[in-house]
Amino acid sequence: MKDLIYLDNNATTRIMDDVWNTMVPYFIHNYANASSLYHSMGREANAVIEKARTQVAQALNCQTKEIFFNSGATESINTVIKGIFKNYQSKGKHIITVRTEHKAVLTTIQDLERQGAVVTYLEVDHSGKIDLTLLEDHITPETILVCIMAANNETGYIHPIKEIAAICNRKDCFYFCDATQYIGKIPLDLAQTPIDILCLSAHKLHGPKGIGALFIRRKSKPIQVSPLIVGGGQEHGFRAGTYNVPNIVGLGAAIINIPHDDTIMQLRNNLESALSTLPEVYIHAKEVSRLPNTTSICFRHILASELMTHCPQLALSSGSACVSGTRDPSHVLLAMGVSKEDALATVRFSLSRLTTTEEIAATISLITEALIKIRQNSPIWQLFQAGLIT
Ligand code: PLP
Repeated sequence: MKDLIYLDNNATTRIMDDVWNTMVPYFIHNYANASSLYHSMGREANAVIEKARTQVAQALNCQTKEIFFNSGATESINTVIKGIFKNYQSKGKHIITVRTEHKAVLTTIQDLERQGAVVTYLEVDHSGKIDLTLLEDHITPETILVCIMAANNETGYIHPIKEIAAICNRKDCFYFCDATQYIGKIPLDLAQTPIDILCLSAHKLHGPKGIGALFIRRKSKPIQVSPLIVGGGQEHGFRAGTYNVPNIVGLGAAIINIPHDDTIMQLRNNLESALSTLPEVYIHAKEVSRLPNTTSICFRHILASELMTHCPQLALSSGSACVSGTRDPSHVLLAMGVSKEDALATVRFSLSRLTTTEEIAATISLITEALIKIRQNSPIWQLFQAGLIT
């Protein structure tokens, strides 16, 4: 495992040692239920949850009352979309989203379509951009929710969330932003960005898995999101279930300690510069604003799965989903107008603050060697070289 070069940080990150160390006492020394307020151990557990809530609120520049803990972004997405749909049907049943959203959003919305939701799926251009004028035009008095992510998990493309939030405010509908990939990579000030609802996940920012936070802005007329999970009344009845104290402590510790410098971007750029000199290799969404750690690279006329199999020393990812043993091309790349063949030839490299210069140099060599080898033995590459396919 030690020799594996881990470049799959958009899937999940390694927990930081200092984050882990802050969590350990809450597994073995103070293991109290944070709702057991009749003894000191329970009260202490409760206090550290509130400390973590303050840390999350400080990191986002919002109020502590606006932060709710749960199991992660998938739960937040389900809670928000289903909750808004349940509570605002007297206003309308119209939801707007984008074709390149995460499956957690798209699947939840598809579920609601079967229950009568009317959905507009905004198209994107070749870089993943939506047309903001079209977004504004599509919002009607019946629109109850706009769901547009902050940054795409496959290409890293960053949507103009400030402008989207301003449009939604102007047109009086809620803006829910899935910021799972954004928080931890780019600072966000919610006092300056009028997003109504936002979700994040600790395991994407060097925190533990299975814990996330949902921000719901306090407004003069409160946003009504019903709980998805009911029971013991935790989180003021908004999210029931015994508090996961170590994980909540870990989320707080992870989110207040995020360095924002150019190191990761420089490493990513070095990787891109080297690999894009190879023939028939190109980078998706290269010309637009992207997450500094992400690059989605198409190695034409090969299968990404084959390239990754040839490089067992690298932990990489393709956007494609494996369904019953066959690979489906990424819905994100297809929506951007990428051909099925190029989508299946695309690999995502996602770096972290733990990625080193040496690892990037080794990655460049390994990928270059593997690509040359695969293409040498590939009839498709030979057809391309003979000018018989484009
Ligand atoms: N949204 C985006 C953009 C993601 O990248 C992910 C995880 O890959 C999720 C949502 C789901 O996050 P979680 O693992 O916290 O449920």
